[in-house]
Amino acid sequence: MANLNQLTVHALQDLLRSGQVSPGEILTDCLSRIEQVENKVKAFITLTPELAKLQAEQAQAFLAAPSAGPQSPLAGIPMALKDNMCTKGVLTSCASKILHNFIPPYDGTMAEKLQQNHAIMVGKLNMDEFAMGSSTENSGFYPTANPWDLNRVPGGSSGGSAAAVAAEEVIFALGSDTGGSIRLPAAFCGVVGLKPTYGRVSRYGLVSYASSLDQIGPLTRDVTDCALVLNAIAGHDPRDATSAPVAVPDYTTFLKPDLKGMKVGIPREYLGAGLDPAVATVIQKAFRQLEELGAICEETSLPHTEYALPAYYLIATAEASSNLARYDGVRYGHRSDTADDIITMFNQTRAEGFGQEVKRRIMLGTYALSSGYYDAYYLKALKVRTLIKQDFDRAFEQYDLLVSPTAPNVAFKFGEKEDPLAMYLTDVCTIPVNLAGLPGISIPCGFAQGMPVGLQMIGRPFAEGTLLQAAYAYEQSTDWHRQKPELGVR
Ligand code: GLN
Repeated sequence: MANLNQLTVHALQDLLRSGQVSPGEILTDCLSRIEQVENKVKAFITLTPELAKLQAEQAQAFLAAPSAGPQSPLAGIPMALKDNMCTKGVLTSCASKILHNFIPPYDGTMAEKLQQNHAIMVGKLNMDEFAMGSSTENSGFYPTANPWDLNRVPGGSSGGSAAAVAAEEVIFALGSDTGGSIRLPAAFCGVVGLKPTYGRVSRYGLVSYASSLDQIGPLTRDVTDCALVLNAIAGHDPRDATSAPVAVPDYTTFLKPDLKGMKVGIPREYLGAGLDPAVATVIQKAFRQLEELGAICEETSLPHTEYALPAYYLIATAEASSNLARYDGVRYGHRSDTADDIITMFNQTRAEGFGQEVKRRIMLGTYALSSGYYDAYYLKALKVRTLIKQDFDRAFEQYDLLVSPTAPNVAFKFGEKEDPLAMYLTDVCTIPVNLAGLPGISIPCGFAQGMPVGLQMIGRPFAEGTLLQAAYAYEQSTDWHRQKPELGVR
């Protein structure tokens, strides 16, 4: 048998239920894998092996109890959380020096739900500082490497989440996605990543970056696992006013390998300039595969797409400048000890604690919101956001699903995108989806230059089921999700 750390949630679930393996054995395999590869991959900021062992014992007892009732498929499964989700008693740093010592006094809804499901948390995962970035190079601590080529980035900002799943250190992970931060690293690392509809999953206890865009979702080895994790984390939460009171279906009921008659739109703006020709070839092949499975694919247009990136970088930075005002050295996190008065203390704390990209965004956002510029930048960006949403609304009158590449290129080498604009352009295909609040998934669909390529599927609000159905049908007809990285340098 393969090492247990290499399996999926659903495969492990069968082994656990039939008593062939125990949560402790699965955990042991994950921890030894971490010991073996973590010095190369650096997916984690914090490891919690002692806590995990305790949770494995509890999961064991839960699974063995005859009265345990309906059992969660996540019981006994080792996983990890992006380091922007609050975990009681466990460092939650957002990969920022300003939160290098922040130990939350409470669990966010994600930590809580996963505990209720008896999943096992092995640690907290690396990311771009405050989720600002596309490569995990903006981590305030160290970058994470791509398991497919250790000289390349894993994508971002949930790079640790994608790398840990791809490197088989954990079975699944949670990430957050404000402009592509789940889907992009999923594509770069060859795993499945889902950004649910805005409001589908609670953000309580998620450290805010841009609150009108942020959404939590799963990173998994296959589509079935994605449905299982979404089942566990979706749903209304009274502690998050933006979480939607919409019933949660059993997402596994959508896992049918059938696309007959599904109407699929291919927005031409996502295949334009900037798309790596090798990626385009892989993507075109994936479109043909969808047709072979019975989907009716047609070219369509989302005419305001080119304005999504500039609108995003005004809206996201405006919200970030406000959200990040709370880091002042007073209540939590880093406090500069070189200042003699309070104003200097605020300034020094922020100067020492924030990295360059975070400072850039706070300045940009503050500028966009300031008197005299608000109308010209922030308000205009909000209007553009409405136009983008309307593009999607019109498309979904005709199509059940839209498909595109997840990113215009494969994972790049460290240091290759030093110009911030070049880095921002990595998210052209994912950002519009956040602006419109829609669900989007990235699934493995082949390789270009030896690196994984992701296929993005975009759905109507709360149509995660449709996404999972199409993703599952595609996945079951291909072998891409079974490919494993060698953890070497190409
Ligand atoms: N790369 C985008 C940004 O830097 C998106 C990040 C994210 O989704 N958190 O803002």
